[in-house]
Amino acid sequence: MQYKKVDMSIITRLMQIVGEKNVLTKDEEKESYSHDETLNLRRYMPEIVLKPNNRNQVRDILILANKERIPITPRGGGTGLSGGAVPLYGGILLSLERMNKILELDKENMMAVLEPGVTNGELQRQAEKYELFYPVNPASLDSCTIGGNVAESAGGANAVKYGITKNYVCGLEAVLPTGKTLRAGGKILKNATNSQFIDILLGSEGTLAVITEITMKLVPLPRVKVDLIVPFDDLGCLCGCALKIINDRLLPTTIELMDRLTIKTCGEFLQKELPFSDAKAHLWIGLDGNKKEEVASMYQSMGEICLDKGALDVFVAEDKPNRDRIWQARQSIHEALVHFNPKMVGNDIVVPRSKVLSLIKGIDSLSRKHSVSFAKFGHLGDGNIHVYILQKNINDTTWEKVKSEAVQELFELTISLGGLISGEHGIGLVKKKYLSLVMSETQIELMQGIKKVFDPHNILNPGKIFDS
Ligand SMILES: Cc1cc2nc3c(=O)[nH]c(=O)nc-3n(C[C@H](O)[C@H](O)[C@H](O)COP(=O)(O)OP(=O)(O)OC[C@H]3O[C@@H](n4cnc5c(N)ncnc54)[C@H](O)[C@@H]3O)c2cc1C
Repeated sequence: MQYKKVDMSIITRLMQIVGEKNVLTKDEEKESYSHDETLNLRRYMPEIVLKPNNRNQVRDILILANKERIPITPRGGGTGLSGGAVPLYGGILLSLERMNKILELDKENMMAVLEPGVTNGELQRQAEKYELFYPVNPASLDSCTIGGNVAESAGGANAVKYGITKNYVCGLEAVLPTGKTLRAGGKILKNATNSQFIDILLGSEGTLAVITEITMKLVPLPRVKVDLIVPFDDLGCLCGCALKIINDRLLPTTIELMDRLTIKTCGEFLQKELPFSDAKAHLWIGLDGNKKEEVASMYQSMGEICLDKGALDVFVAEDKPNRDRIWQARQSIHEALVHFNPKMVGNDIVVPRSKVLSLIKGIDSLSRKHSVSFAKFGHLGDGNIHVYILQKNINDTTWEKVKSEAVQELFELTISLGGLISGEHGIGLVKKKYLSLVMSETQIELMQGIKKVFDPHNILNPGKIFDS
């Protein structure tokens, strides 16, 4: 695909749309937009960065880009882990960071109307003031945006009880590459009229339209929250325990895994010894409710199951400072692993939760076969395990080969267990070469057909999910 370069006359027209100070052209200003948080991805410098602050500006930029055939990459907080927001073909980087207003918090309907650049954390804080709760909590919540969450259909630790982004989007406004505006849904809880447009944009990774407004459902804020940290010396017992809790209908908000390598790395990074750091793994179980006694009785039942299934102990964190410490450790995992293993490769595979133990055993075999270490952590309660392959003592030349073989085999193992190659981080740039492992030719052709209908000139985030 031949794209037009952003020349002086185009820069002038773009400046007229967004204002001169919202246009970045110097390399040092554009550098931080040349990557997201994907590990070991080379940088792709945009020719220009634009920061619109309303839908009409987004529309005018898209009309110009479409007419001139300039590639355009939408970006929220740039926390993505699949290379979705990197401008593969240069062109325009469209940062939605200034469109960060909460337009409405409607207590009566329990809905929030948001611009796409509102961060997830800000929505949570503002909703709490109205005793409302937005439960989707990616570990990146202080930096990622709601627009990026919708574009990736992000999940979080609370998914076991509360689900993921797609369960909360009731309305969307988006601008198509042609400049036309698409609106679907609204402050409504049921939609058998035009919800297909919402479904198609959820997880579309910025390839079909630029999302300019989101209406999110909120739920009542639970009054009581408790976290349990449960160390185990046997992963079989740990997985059995997680399944038993779910099958006993105890409905925790969160069931997360942290293996020993992850616990140790976090402890070293945070410069504090985490309790039971020699255990083979920890389960982090979160639960909530409205009455203290009800939540206490729930965590007692869960604690009994844990001890019965071989837990070494059960730590109960009832007060906010202790719960915050657990969340801080969980939030730091990615950064801690990157800090000590800059060349590692991250994955977010998902399997049926009954297959997590088989997955872990298979990963242990891969670890022995390739003599590499795997850090395993994340959303055990919904089968979405983050598996980071660490370089450790392998030299750079061998590492490239080992890495690609280990990833391929990890994906084959996942698929053999009925799983998929991404549970929440998306395909983006880095996983597109594996798409044919999980999608038939017919499915890929259908997706390409949809892309063509939305974006006939292939200007919006080209080269993501599949090759242009
Ligand atoms: C430390 C860390 C922890 C993380 N934890 C989680 C987790 O628990 N769960 C989880 O799901 N993810 C997690 N992530 C991944 C990431 O935070 C999510 O994918 C998040 O949804 C990305 O949001 P963003 O605003 O940063 O989007 P970006 O990275 O800026 O963009 C992501 C994609 O969305 C598109 N996009 C962004 N805004 C728009 C828009 N307005 N319209 C159309 N397309 C748009 C971009 O083109 C790109 O394809 C984590 C990342 C890090 C670094």
